[in-house]
Amino acid sequence: MIKLQNLRKDYYMKKRAVTALKRIDLTIAKGEIFGIIGHSGAGKSTLIRCINLLERPTEGTVEIDGVDLTRLGARDLQKARQSIGMIFQHFNLLASTTIYENVAFPLRLAKKPQAEIDRKVNELLSLVGLTEHAKKYPAQLSGGQKQRVGIARALANDPKVLLCDEATSALDPMTTHSILRLLADINKKIGITIVLITHEMGVIQEICDRVAVIDGGEIVEDGPVAEVFLRP
Ligand code: ADP
Ligand code: ADP
Repeated sequence: MIKLQNLRKDYYMKKRAVTALKRIDLTIAKGEIFGIIGHSGAGKSTLIRCINLLERPTEGTVEIDGVDLTRLGARDLQKARQSIGMIFQHFNLLASTTIYENVAFPLRLAKKPQAEIDRKVNELLSLVGLTEHAKKYPAQLSGGQKQRVGIARALANDPKVLLCDEATSALDPMTTHSILRLLADINKKIGITIVLITHEMGVIQEICDRVAVIDGGEIVEDGPVAEVFLRP
């Protein structure tokens, strides 16, 4: 489903290169919950942002369902991105519009008819348990509720992949637990492939099927969670 081959990412700052990723080879199966763990600066953000080409890899390929995104032109890439949802540590909601409109936003961008937008937004708000909050604004919600909005918005265009960038790092342990349960439920219900990055072992152990450990821009281990973390 997701295949990264020989990925490398260099950032250039005043002609000095910082290598954030190198020799990344990773295959993530359809329907899997795949975790990427590493310390701050290890390259997690860069890696997850390369999967939807928010960062353009310096070298290597990013295949989703057999299509190499690095070869697509702007138009095709924009289309391909609709099949990849993303949620963020700080939620990235639009502060001046309602919860309803935050979730509707990707559907409006995709020029869906109003009736379909209505149906889809209501279905998504129900899925994440926020039906009663549709008319509120983000500032009126708790952190966990805001992330639920982020999840609903990310699912609006029925993506095949959900990327989670430190999605629970700004939340307390109870709220983290409830967001992880929601992600696991959604994974089960609609079979969506989930890729998450975190610096917290507990997150990986709670919901991931497989994990890759990243250090200094390289994957140093990868396999089923129980194997990777129980190795002597
Ligand atoms: P993590 O998410 O694991 O904290 P990052 O992917 O953010 O790691 O960063 C990996 C390395 O790349 C770090 O050395 C970081 O300073 C560097 N880096 C990340 N983004 C940029 C950028 N936009 N410009 C220059 N260097 C960057
Ligand atoms: P996170 O750990 O959530 O990725 P960071 O503070 O590492 O947060 O990064 C926030 C933003 O700053 C990202 O867009 C990242 O690419 C960029 N960034 C990270 N490190 C650097 C750096 N050394 N120079 C320039 N930009 C950076």
